[in-house]
Amino acid sequence: MQRMLLLSTLASSMLFSLTGCGSFSLISKEQEIAMGREAAPKFEEEFGGPVEDAALQNYVSQVGQQMAAVSTRQGIPYEFGLLNSDVPNAFALPGGKIYITAGLLRAMTNERQLAGVLGHEVGHVAEKHSVEQIEKQVGAAVLLEIAATVIGGDTGEKAKAAGTIAANMAMLKYSREDEYEADKRGIDYTYRAGVNPYGVVELLEVLYKMNEQEPGSLGEMFQTHPLTSKRIEEAIAYIEEEYDSAKPDAPDPNAARFRNMQKRLK
Ligand SMILES: [Zn+2]
Repeated sequence: MQRMLLLSTLASSMLFSLTGCGSFSLISKEQEIAMGREAAPKFEEEFGGPVEDAALQNYVSQVGQQMAAVSTRQGIPYEFGLLNSDVPNAFALPGGKIYITAGLLRAMTNERQLAGVLGHEVGHVAEKHSVEQIEKQVGAAVLLEIAATVIGGDTGEKAKAAGTIAANMAMLKYSREDEYEADKRGIDYTYRAGVNPYGVVELLEVLYKMNEQEPGSLGEMFQTHPLTSKRIEEAIAYIEEEYDSAKPDAPDPNAARFRNMQKRLK
């Protein structure tokens, strides 16, 4: 019986490597980081460019680095940026570049919600969801080619590869399973960093309400990060199970600092 099991496991892993499933693991960490780095300028441009306010950028970065410090995937150069787009959204490029839009920062009411969304995006990077999704969209062979190009290609080839990544990232659609997993990592990281993990739930609730009141207002966000009432329930259940000392109605000690920063958005 055991032998049969072993044989079938071997057979399925051989099948995977033959068909290219899961081949994103063939991409080195260096290639993943280079992909994100090459694609970043084009991607930033698509979402209105960086908000030109050093204090605000530093603030987003500081909250993000708290999450990165406790991430389950270390050795990645996590970086956080705020982009000008008014449409609420958040993204993670392969290799650790993470963005939120001004529209999303405006929708929040306290700092733990910001920590929650940045923790969620760090979770996507930690679980390598972005690379997996690009692979699904362009195919394993093309992804491997892109990965090789961003390291060894000439300038023209690199630019073309970067364009492909940026375009795919902008239309990227995570699966429901990816979203549950990233929510859980966001909850883990906030808690480990000493932040109330209910920030994750609060932000999901804010976005859910926004979409109900004004359907379509979140357009892309709903495409890239599918949001359902089930997702909110799952997040609450996970906190209750893992971190029962966390309290949903506790005030956010950093809410005032958050509001002062939020006011800087024009
Ligand atoms: Zn997500």
